[in-house]
Amino acid sequence: MRVVICGAAGNMGREVVRAVNAEEDIQLVGTVDTYEVGKDIGTLCALGELGVKVNSDLEKTLKESQAEVMIDFTSPFVVMNNIEIALSCGVDLVVGTTGITSVDLQNIKKAAAEKGIKAIIAPNFALGAVLMMKFSSMAAKYFKDVEVIELHHDNKIDAPSGTALKTVQMIAEERGFQAPEKLDEIEKVPNVRGGELEGINMHSVRLPGLVAHQQVIFGGLGQTLTIKHDSINRTSFMPGVIMALRKLEEIEGVVYGLENIIT
Ligand code: NAD
Repeated sequence: MRVVICGAAGNMGREVVRAVNAEEDIQLVGTVDTYEVGKDIGTLCALGELGVKVNSDLEKTLKESQAEVMIDFTSPFVVMNNIEIALSCGVDLVVGTTGITSVDLQNIKKAAAEKGIKAIIAPNFALGAVLMMKFSSMAAKYFKDVEVIELHHDNKIDAPSGTALKTVQMIAEERGFQAPEKLDEIEKVPNVRGGELEGINMHSVRLPGLVAHQQVIFGGLGQTLTIKHDSINRTSFMPGVIMALRKLEEIEGVVYGLENIIT
């Protein structure tokens, strides 16, 4: 499998370079970034020279390297443009960049169907995080009250996280009742009770030292239930990324969420 990594010089991109490089049947044929252009990606990732330089032109790199798959870990501001370029080049996709809206997803599905392209898009490639979402949706019908706290490193630019949004959607779909009415609260500091989606309060914490963490706290009569997941380093996402690459040949069209490809 011939793979190009977009955002290769970033935190996740470098981890994906190491993970792909360790797989015998997956070949890293190109890397793209707006940063560290011209440098050997192997040297940047402490793997020794790999003979693959960081390029700035995605379209040129996909075409010249005859890539079969583009992996994208860039930024919510540029990911849709990168996906459009990959679709126009007829390249399959594994996308981990967050910030893709439901409207974006519909557009990707339509364009991918027209061109016969396959894509796996997941806001979280960590298996434990996927289970946290699943367990939260299982608990949803037993507890009316729930709040979500997601915590990430201070360089994350989108809030709430894609995982938190997906968790809330899954809880809302599963619980089968209206969210309870809220009290008329007095916020002495604006937005101190967080944002609200589907009647569920969401809180985003950004601090150095964190990687990616989430707590889903259900409250009931005389009890709470907390479902918590911690990615303590970025290697936690790599088995999911490699699994997604291998699953591309089995899926049809666009799959959103790692839970849909876990066997
Ligand atoms: P980062 O800022 O460390 O890396 C992003 C890289 O993309 C940078 O090197 C940047 O120069 C590059 N970039 C920016 N614009 C570009 C463009 N137009 N073309 C090519 N490269 C470009 O960020 P990160 O921590 O690696 O995270 C990247 C994305 O992945 C974020 O959206 C983050 O939320 C997401 N993420 C997803 C998962 C998951 O499991 N799905 C896990 C962690 C992070």
